[in-house]
Amino acid sequence: MKLLSIHKLEIKKNDRVFIRCDFNVPLNDEGEIADDRRIRAALATIRYCLGKGAKVILASHLGRPKAGVFDKKFSLKVIQKRVGELLKKDVIMPQNFLIDDETINMSQNLQHNQVLLLENLRFNPGETKNDSTFAKQLSNLAKFYINDAFGVCHREHASVYALPMLYSNDKKAAGLLLKREVSFFDKILKNPTKPYIAIIGGSKVSSKLNVLLSLLNKVDKLIIGGGMAFTFLKALGYEIGDSLVEENLIEDAKNIIEEAKNKNVKFYLPVDVVIANKFEENALTQYVPIQEITPKWIGLDIAPATLTIFKEAIRDAQTIFWNGPMGVFEMEKFSKGSISLSHTLAKSSATTIVGGGDTGEVVNNAGDIDNMTFVSTGGGAALELLEGKILPGIKAVSL
Ligand code: AMP
Repeated sequence: MKLLSIHKLEIKKNDRVFIRCDFNVPLNDEGEIADDRRIRAALATIRYCLGKGAKVILASHLGRPKAGVFDKKFSLKVIQKRVGELLKKDVIMPQNFLIDDETINMSQNLQHNQVLLLENLRFNPGETKNDSTFAKQLSNLAKFYINDAFGVCHREHASVYALPMLYSNDKKAAGLLLKREVSFFDKILKNPTKPYIAIIGGSKVSSKLNVLLSLLNKVDKLIIGGGMAFTFLKALGYEIGDSLVEENLIEDAKNIIEEAKNKNVKFYLPVDVVIANKFEENALTQYVPIQEITPKWIGLDIAPATLTIFKEAIRDAQTIFWNGPMGVFEMEKFSKGSISLSHTLAKSSATTIVGGGDTGEVVNNAGDIDNMTFVSTGGGAALELLEGKILPGIKAVSL
């Protein structure tokens, strides 16, 4: 499979181009953009099309709104402002989230200093259902289709799959960001420079079971942290108090440890953790070895001895893939393990690839973004790619 190149599209002055972006950015409690990286990452493709004299129509989802109704909390108005500031263009939006006459008129009458941004695609019930009627309506807006939304490529949604399937190969392409994302993951899938080390954290084993199994065929070392480590620790017979655990995955966890041994993959778990008497920022905390987790207390971060061992383990790495925080980084008290690991990766001379979502946020909070080789804009999509899956959004813009 080869991505269709944006450079091969014969975009002429005044042609309308639909760009599926991923403007699904984190918002703070005031509803303001907390991190605009995903918006800035989309600018190259947008500017490329504007540079060709095209009229650009941008579309994205934001969060998971209820379909069929407008909800201010999920409106792309907040994105409109930021895109306008970054592009220094007048970004206009239709009143309605439906693709009605007003939207069609706006797309046809776009001026050269303007860009059209559609309202949250997921307000429309057809989006997540991959509905062909909705896709057809969207296709009426533009002559060309570009997918630059890596973060949703694993979703078979109308704007990601049904819509590009309506375009011929000379009228659709992968955007510049999508191309960059795919080429980094391709490299670590097919030909990683060794030693290759994966660090996997986050909350649940269940959401990462497949990627853990497929990583065992590729990596030299597998490092586990975060909430998911406790299912492994329980599988090894440790008392884990009230820490996060998936009882139904204990057998899978044992199997992963066994497989790592069989495949000669060095396997690392935390040796000490930060425990708290409650899941709150103002909880009482203690650093304890994993042998001494107090019943009823909760493990919420990795502790210093673990950090020393993890740092030692990645010292010889040539390629490092990191997905999933080492602790509950949203609370300052339990963010230190993740932040410190981020600093270590930032200083490493290895190729460092950070798999999107929360881990991108950790690296951003740590001020390390510019010192990583690549920070993906997609979490789930990155994991599915590493599992070896063909993502629908990528397939739809590939030869
Ligand atoms: P994921 O989406 O699976 O990468 O998980 C990210 C989430 O894992 C973040 O919201 C973290 O707060 C959470 N997390 C990390 N470590 C722990 C832990 N020890 N206990 C509970 N949640 C955790």
